[in-house]
Amino acid sequence: MLTVLFAAPSLWPEYREPLPRALAEAGIDARLVTEAAPEAVDYIVYAPSSPLQDFTPYRRAKAVLNLWAGVERIVGNPTLTQPLCRMVDPGLTEGMVEWVTGHTLRHHLGMDRHIVNPGHVWDPACPPLARERGVTILGMGALGAACAAALRVLNFPVTGWSRTAKPGCLHGEAGLHEALARAEILVTLLPKTPETENLLNARTLAMLPRGAVILNPGRGALIDDAALIAALDAGQVGHATLDVFRIEPLPHDHPFWSHPAVTVTPHIAADTRASTAAHVIAENIRRGEAGEPFLHLVDRARGY
Ligand code: NAP
Repeated sequence: MLTVLFAAPSLWPEYREPLPRALAEAGIDARLVTEAAPEAVDYIVYAPSSPLQDFTPYRRAKAVLNLWAGVERIVGNPTLTQPLCRMVDPGLTEGMVEWVTGHTLRHHLGMDRHIVNPGHVWDPACPPLARERGVTILGMGALGAACAAALRVLNFPVTGWSRTAKPGCLHGEAGLHEALARAEILVTLLPKTPETENLLNARTLAMLPRGAVILNPGRGALIDDAALIAALDAGQVGHATLDVFRIEPLPHDHPFWSHPAVTVTPHIAADTRASTAAHVIAENIRRGEAGEPFLHLVDRARGY
């Protein structure tokens, strides 16, 4: 019988029922525990907020299975020598598609003008069609690709940009220039790595069409905060809807809270859903026991 350590105490209430069920459905004979002697543990289910930070004694563990999509808080842990898998969860992906689509449509349709209209202004100007509104997604991984597919169904011409070359997707520095130039609405779904930190800065924000809208559900560090505020003040960026921040919760005195062209959402774009994520964890344990490659293995050198 395997010992699976659930090392994310605050999330245990959500997983205590679906995870044992998913393990049983996957045919895995496992003891799911929240505490165990390190030398007895076969798999670790993990969240970066976990008190477990030293993996050294877990010599028997065959993998660390992260409950979050982002791994920047664990990927550099020098005590972690076990394979690390990140979370790609259908529920999380659906949530991100809904957040990105909803906020894209808000800005595309100019909904704010009618939702908050204290002067009762009758302004019958129609927005352009989605086919006339360029959307760019930086980061065409599990989440970016799903958002692109949903926006394309609505007819938005979507430009994608990623690290490596892939069909129908821009890449590299030249590709970034082109991707930003097309972005009336820009969605940032990159992981936080040394290469992506401050990717949006004074130089790159200037490559956007004037008045472009930014949606950032990726990571706060992708954007240079001061450069964004300067670009908003200058009208170069028309609005920024931000879900993630360098410091979370966003400090009360941070200028993003009071800036008229910033919408703050409190890191709610997409959450891992226990009902679906439990099956992803169970499948990875099944793979580990069958000698098959793990799903969603993190490349430690690449950082995501
Ligand atoms: P993923 O599947 O690993 O995709 C990452 C994408 O970013 C890939 O397309 C990758 O390019 C690209 N990329 C990485 N480094 C790059 C670089 N230096 N230059 C250009 N492109 C680069 O990740 P995911 O599951 O889509 O998640 C993306 C991020 O969303 C997570 O890391 C996390 O930060 C964030 N997130 C936020 C929330 C929220 O609630 N706000 C929830 C979940 C996730 P390649 O395709 O070439 O590898």
